[in-house]
Amino acid sequence: MADPAAQTTIKVVCRFRPLNKSELARGDKYIPTFQGDDCVQIAGKPYHFDRVFQSNTTQVQFYNAVAQQIVRDVLGGYNGTIFAYGQTSSGKTHTMEGDLHDPEMMGIIPRIVQDIFNYIYSMDENLEFHIKVSYFEIYLDKIKDCLDVSKINLSVHEDKNRVPYVKGCTERFVSTPEEVMDAIDEGKNNRHVAVTNMNEHSSRSHSIFLINIKQENSQTGQKFTGKLYLVDLAGSEKVGKTGAEGTVLDEAKMINKSLSSLGNVISALAEGSSYVPYRDSKMTRILQDSLGGNCRTTMVICCSPSAFNDAETRSTLLFGQRAK
Ligand code: ADP
Ligand code: MG
Repeated sequence: MADPAAQTTIKVVCRFRPLNKSELARGDKYIPTFQGDDCVQIAGKPYHFDRVFQSNTTQVQFYNAVAQQIVRDVLGGYNGTIFAYGQTSSGKTHTMEGDLHDPEMMGIIPRIVQDIFNYIYSMDENLEFHIKVSYFEIYLDKIKDCLDVSKINLSVHEDKNRVPYVKGCTERFVSTPEEVMDAIDEGKNNRHVAVTNMNEHSSRSHSIFLINIKQENSQTGQKFTGKLYLVDLAGSEKVGKTGAEGTVLDEAKMINKSLSSLGNVISALAEGSSYVPYRDSKMTRILQDSLGGNCRTTMVICCSPSAFNDAETRSTLLFGQRAK
C-alpha cells in the first residue's frame, strides 16, 4: 500500500532576509511582494511554495513553522533532511545555525538540539536513547571530517543493508545538548583553521551536520533509529564566465554539478519518478536514505530582497519550484 504521507514528504519553503546595511546605504530597491503566506512576486511574476516567509520572520517563528514537526517525526523513527539553498549572503547560515549561543538569534540546528533533549528528558526511564552526531563538509568533491582534521578525503560506502554512509567519519556520542553544541563549535573551529578566508570557503563548500537517534525500550526490547541531515549548501551564484580560472573555476564547476544533481533528485522525487539519479553526486548518494520516500525532506530557498540580486533571486526561486 502506498504511504499516505508520500506525496507530502518534500516541502519547499522560501525565506527572504531583510535588506542589509550596505544595500540600504546604496538605496537598493526592495523587490519582493508577498501574497498570502505561500506566494511571492518578483516583477509581477508569482512563485508559489508550501510557505513563504517575509523578511521580518523571527528565528523562533521559522523554527516552529518549518523544523519542529520534522524533529518529532525523526524522534518517531523517520529519516529527514533540511537543506538551505541560495546565493552567498542570502541567509542560509543564519537559517541553519544563526547565532549558536544566543537564545533569540539561534537558527534551527541549536533549536533542534534543545527540542530533542527536552523530548528525551520528558520520556519515561524504560526508553534509552543513543545519540551520535557527525559533521563533515564537501569541498571540491572531497569529503572532509570537521571533527577530525586528519580526515580530508573520505569516501561513501554502503553497509550490509545497502544504506550509504561516509566511511571513517567521526561519530561523536553525545548525552547532553551542551555536548552537541561543543561538537558544532569544534567542527566550526576546525573549518576556520584550515582556510584563510572562512566566508569564501563556506560559500564554496557544502556543510553537513548529521544527528542520529537510536531508541531502545528496555522492557519490550523494541528498537528504532531516526536520522536527520542538516545541510548548509554552497552558494548557488553563477561564477562570472570570464576571468574564472584554476581553483575558482574548478570550484564553480563542482558546485554547479552537485547543486544540479541535487535539483534533479528532488524533482524526480517530487514527480514520483521511478528512477531517481541518487548516484550522480556524492551528496545525493550520502543522503539517499534520508530523501523522499518515507522521509521528511524540506528545502529552504533563501533569497535576498535587493534589486541588485534580482537575477540570482529569480534563478533561486526557479530552482525551488522545480521541486514542486
Ligand atoms: P549565507 O550563509 O547564505 O552566505 P548568511 O546567513 O551568512 O548568508 O547571511 C548574510 C548576512 O545577513 C549575515 O550577517 C546574517 O546575519 C544576515 N541575515 C541573513 N538572514 C537574515 C534574516 N532573516 N534576518 C536578519 N539578518 C539576516
Ligand atoms: Mg553561509
